[in-house]
Amino acid sequence: MPRRRPGALRAERGTYEDRRPPAWARELPPVDRLSPDAAAAAHWAGPGRADEVADLLGRYRNFLRRSGSPLLLSPSPCPACPGCALDDVAVVRDELGDLYRALPPVARTALGRALRELDSRFRRRTLPDPDPPPAGWADWSGRPRAWWHRRLYEDG
Ligand SMILES: [Zn+2]
Repeated sequence: MPRRRPGALRAERGTYEDRRPPAWARELPPVDRLSPDAAAAAHWAGPGRADEVADLLGRYRNFLRRSGSPLLLSPSPCPACPGCALDDVAVVRDELGDLYRALPPVARTALGRALRELDSRFRRRTLPDPDPPPAGWADWSGRPRAWWHRRLYEDG
């Protein structure tokens, strides 16, 4: 039986195995409240990934840090523009969901844990929309709306 080249063996182990962060990645800046291992994995997941995680989690936390009860969501004044769309916390939560699916396992698990905690606070502090958009309603990009879009917004 011919000996297999190391490269072939490595390829069989799958993509994420190859993307395990090197030790120095643990020295990179912290990412929100993720563990050093999870932060290293986020940094190693691709250029800008860690910043994206930190920025989006920071936006979600800022919303939940507001005073007032209940918290009302604010629609973005400019929803079709990628930067301004994030003025709506529901869009921030969409992006966190997309990011969750794109991250390697260690970072994904840590982000999932953070999201479960933030989501339960979000559920407690916001109200269900008594007149939600119809089921299957999609946003401008065709993405179906998740439950966090069916919370009460200011001005109806
Ligand atoms: Zn804009």
